[in-house]
Amino acid sequence: MVLPAVVLLAASAAMAAETPVPPAPDTPVLKHADVAFMYASTPEAYKAYGATFVAWGGAETAEKVKAHHDLGIRCTGSMWCLTAGAKELYEDEKLRDAVAKDIEGKPVAVPWLFDHTYKDMKSYFGCTNHPAFCAHSERKVREAMAGGADGLHIDDHLGVAQAATAFGGGLCDYCIAAFREYLKKHATPEQLAKAGVSDLEKFDYRDLIRKDAKTRSEYMKVRRTIPLMDLFDRFHLEAAAEFVNHLRDVGRQAAGHPILLSANAWLVDQRHAVVAKHLTHVVCEVEFNAAKGPAGAEHALGSFRAARERGLPLAATASGWDWAYVKANNTEDLARYWIAFTYAHGQWFMAPHPKKQWCFTDKLGTHWYEAPTEAYAPLYQFIRKNAEWFDGFEAADVGAITAPPNVVCVARRKGASGPIVLHLVNRDYDAEAKRMRPMKNVSLTGLSTLGGRARLLSYDAEPQDLKTWTEGGATEIKLPELRLWSLVVIENAPSSPRRVFDKLGG
Ligand SMILES: [Zn+2]
Repeated sequence: MVLPAVVLLAASAAMAAETPVPPAPDTPVLKHADVAFMYASTPEAYKAYGATFVAWGGAETAEKVKAHHDLGIRCTGSMWCLTAGAKELYEDEKLRDAVAKDIEGKPVAVPWLFDHTYKDMKSYFGCTNHPAFCAHSERKVREAMAGGADGLHIDDHLGVAQAATAFGGGLCDYCIAAFREYLKKHATPEQLAKAGVSDLEKFDYRDLIRKDAKTRSEYMKVRRTIPLMDLFDRFHLEAAAEFVNHLRDVGRQAAGHPILLSANAWLVDQRHAVVAKHLTHVVCEVEFNAAKGPAGAEHALGSFRAARERGLPLAATASGWDWAYVKANNTEDLARYWIAFTYAHGQWFMAPHPKKQWCFTDKLGTHWYEAPTEAYAPLYQFIRKNAEWFDGFEAADVGAITAPPNVVCVARRKGASGPIVLHLVNRDYDAEAKRMRPMKNVSLTGLSTLGGRARLLSYDAEPQDLKTWTEGGATEIKLPELRLWSLVVIENAPSSPRRVFDKLGG
């Protein structure tokens, strides 16, 4: 359909009027009481969860962006740097050449997309150093950001670096040429001499590799012993990070305003950490090791720490394996634990999607969990309702607090002397009953409230005042019951509780 010029003008004027205002530089990308959805959903679902952000795309058109903004939700466009997909590879000869190649010149398929095929075509890694795949990625970014979304999310940001560092790829002509340029800048004369490189202009890394490995399987066995391999990995990771940064510019141009930039970066993996400097936040799966119950969530702490150290907010969800476990075993309380555990540690657990929560097992491949809203939304409503006890609170050292062994206790504080919030999460999991065992008379000792008021906020009960005792120099706070997650709010705590505590001989 061809629209008359006057209609187009009116449409673009309307779009300009709706151009979102990105957050100011000093506005946090995510406040602690924000509620992020992974993918876009319905207005009803957003309302049920109190959504404020959609992190992983779904707002590609001006209409979709407007619909989100009208609900007070910031939104994103998303693309992935993994593969052009089996269908496009089948249909496009240029893209078919722009895939990750191994030492034999053969394309490298994405192992976990074994079920994503088209006719006889597999899903091969795209090569982010190949002009045709770069052009394809830029096109995808322009499509994703055409509506003027607030942010761009890049999935599988490692691009061909993933194939290069783990699956024997990254050895096409373009990769080799770019690596040669990288060596000119970053290799020392000693490194080159040791590797037997006499003329860098004519150097083809594949010739050196073939002295040790002529096939992909041989290469995978001896890769780490091949000269210059650390530099080769480094080259790929830095090239991938630069490409992500370049895609931000493409997205910014398409959107017509500055944008947020996130990636599915597993920061605990050094390969993924290289891109961190370019990001405003991280959106990714974190392993909660569902089969191990609440103990498995300890693994997530490494990701939370890595994000905090880099000053990057982390909007997380559990891995596809974890969600497959929840779906197969109907362990909703375990998933509720992950939500509470993540918010208690100052990061964001994205709302379990009512239609499309990604699950994965080797046997079933990709499948989906329809997360029941009534099972999870009350936690998020609790967070929104009590935003004043989340926003602006950071992890704080308030001295040693003694809590029962099966209680995760995390102290967060507003500023150096503001109120303290203790997050208490019950991890006493009854695997047979698939729920946390409620705990009675939970006693906390060690934190002086100086006779102050302590209040209990729970997602599944009305707020209540708590009794505090000071006996023999130690203060005790007693909760009548802890079911899954409660907050103890201490509003007029001393500014240095630790000192008080130390003085009391704890
Ligand atoms: Zn390549």
